[in-house]
Amino acid sequence: MSGGDPAVYLSFDIGGTKVASGFVTLPDRPGGTPVVTGRCEIPTEAARGGDDLRERIVALAVRQLDRAADEGTTIAGVGIAAAGVPDGETGVIVSATDILPGWRGQRIYDAFARVTDLPVRMIGDVGAHGLGEASYGAGRGRDVVLSIGVGTGIGGAIVTHGALFTGAHGVAGHAGHVPSALGRGFLCSCGTREGHVEPVASGTGLRDLYNRRREEAYEGRPVADGDVPEPALSGADVAVRAGLGEPLACAVLADSARALGECIGGMGNLIDPDVIVISGSVVKAGPIWWDALRAGFAESALALVRPTPLVEGELGGDAPLIGAAAAIDRHVRS
Ligand SMILES: [Zn+2]
Repeated sequence: MSGGDPAVYLSFDIGGTKVASGFVTLPDRPGGTPVVTGRCEIPTEAARGGDDLRERIVALAVRQLDRAADEGTTIAGVGIAAAGVPDGETGVIVSATDILPGWRGQRIYDAFARVTDLPVRMIGDVGAHGLGEASYGAGRGRDVVLSIGVGTGIGGAIVTHGALFTGAHGVAGHAGHVPSALGRGFLCSCGTREGHVEPVASGTGLRDLYNRRREEAYEGRPVADGDVPEPALSGADVAVRAGLGEPLACAVLADSARALGECIGGMGNLIDPDVIVISGSVVKAGPIWWDALRAGFAESALALVRPTPLVEGELGGDAPLIGAAAAIDRHVRS
């Protein structure tokens, strides 16, 4: 790249349902805003297996690099936000759930090396989201950022001075798998029923908590029986019902958010972040959710941690693409 020009990276966000790609232009000055262009996505089609997915991602990369060349855009490197637990040094997916069969063990750097000489850097998708928000979103300008994503599941990332903290095994930041009494008896995505917060505080967790409480409250009474509510279909459904003032939905939303807030308070006590960024579909659940989250946080946070701002993420769905670009940018500049 020529001196002073903003760097452009080819980014990928590999998830369970789709693989998104785009050219990310990172700002050449602090406080600037990244720009994502050349968006292109393909369905993950996880059932076709990990080898097939890897090859389709490489084919997408070839198309995107051709497109950049046609447009006269110089690409400085490739950043990848990958589902599962990737090893950023070796470029191997070291762990993946059943959502992506055959994804574990894939050698991503080797596959890219067959089609490009550009430097490639891969990090986890949740970590990329956090790195994006910490570097260019709601956490920009702050030294220590705790990022929590609350959607279908719950994930997290710790970013210190622009670097993602991945831990000894790449597992750091698994914010959904911290103990919470509210989660006891609910099956977590990690397999435990001993009480993790994810199965009662994620979007699907909100739905499951609502439906469990509904069963307990209206046991044996048919839905047709006057004021017995229908089972909830999703977390968003619970939030809509709470917005309409349905008492059961309000209570479930508040209890769920309070439990999550208490867990985040504990994480805050451990990490002492400058800011805590909360993203994902559930942050749209409304003021009942946010008030309870903040109340739970205030209850469990130490006095010095309590004033830490809990803010909503700013980058939305682009956060992993931008975070992946930040990761390769940091790699090529180091
Ligand atoms: Zn768990």
